[in-house]
Amino acid sequence: MSTINEKVSKLVRPEIRALKAYHVPDAIGLIKLDAMENPYTWPEDIRRAWLKVLHDVELNRYPDPGANAVRSRIRAAWQIPDNLDILLGNGSDELIQIVLMSLSMPGAVVLAPTPTFVMYEMIATVLGLKFVGVPLRPDYSLDVTAMLEAIATHQPAAIFFAYPNNPTCNLFTRDGIERVIEASPGLVVLDEAYYAFARASFIDRLGQYDNLLVMRTLSKQGLAGLRLGMLIGPAPWLEEFNKVRLPYNNGSLAQASADFALSHLELLDQQVEQIREDREKLYESLTRLNGLQVWPSQTNFLLFRTLNRDADEVFESLRARGVLIKNLNAAGGMLQGCLRVTIGTPAETSAFLEALEAAL
Ligand code: PMP
Repeated sequence: MSTINEKVSKLVRPEIRALKAYHVPDAIGLIKLDAMENPYTWPEDIRRAWLKVLHDVELNRYPDPGANAVRSRIRAAWQIPDNLDILLGNGSDELIQIVLMSLSMPGAVVLAPTPTFVMYEMIATVLGLKFVGVPLRPDYSLDVTAMLEAIATHQPAAIFFAYPNNPTCNLFTRDGIERVIEASPGLVVLDEAYYAFARASFIDRLGQYDNLLVMRTLSKQGLAGLRLGMLIGPAPWLEEFNKVRLPYNNGSLAQASADFALSHLELLDQQVEQIREDREKLYESLTRLNGLQVWPSQTNFLLFRTLNRDADEVFESLRARGVLIKNLNAAGGMLQGCLRVTIGTPAETSAFLEALEAAL
């Protein structure tokens, strides 16, 4: 009789056993500035109107499998032309999974400039695809020559760009990305999770390149709890990916809430504007502190490096003072000594600054 551990070792694929589960730290009682959430909720009258919508949802029925009302709202909100399709996921994480499940042929390669959002590599690995990371330049700009060389060598089935990039906060140049799209034999997914904070997008290029898709999410605009991601692009790709999507991946409550939220876009836009202003203020404050390197940001978070103090110690000291941010030091390489803070409310940001000054 084998033990449970022996059974697990024998049956679970070695590359999965070698992985670490995506770690979400406990934030109870802490000021939560670790996950790029929007710190604002909705005014009371809007919440009431939303609850009225939820009241009428028929939870005894399965959701609309095509989420047609939400997709129409998105089409109108972002002026997506009729020749392009929209596929919804349970968060954009699920869309990355759907795309890579569809492309996971033996020997298929997924490529991305690194450091970047960790799920591209994690999902590729889980699905048995090979992940190739192409290092950014030391200033976190895209190394287009290295990207083109890697494309020639690996002929990747998919390339992911976070635009702007997480965790480096910046937008790669349009020209660099276009050269990569043109040289790529495979699919290029522009992950625009933070587009609202950058006001930059490749949506206007969709259809012009037959291998380009744009992915977005409502998570960073105040709706992380909904789990709603969108993939937009030419129908021939999305029709195939739609076969991989599980039929009811967006629940009725999420669909009704998204439909409601997208009919109040002006509210989401106001919150984004506030976050953009507060980001610039926090950036200025951080540049005035001694012993920090801070990068300008096109997102709703800031990346900084502690130059005179150990980043792990600063992170722990902040947590002991009640502020949770993200420690990227363990990732090493270009992120050595780096910490990442999400833009919170002005009160949260003040508490963070006070704790940071005490920690440095
Ligand atoms: N893409 C990027 C670049 C991200 O940083 C994140 C969240 N950290 C996601 C996608 C995932 O978003 P969602 O909540 O829609 O799964």
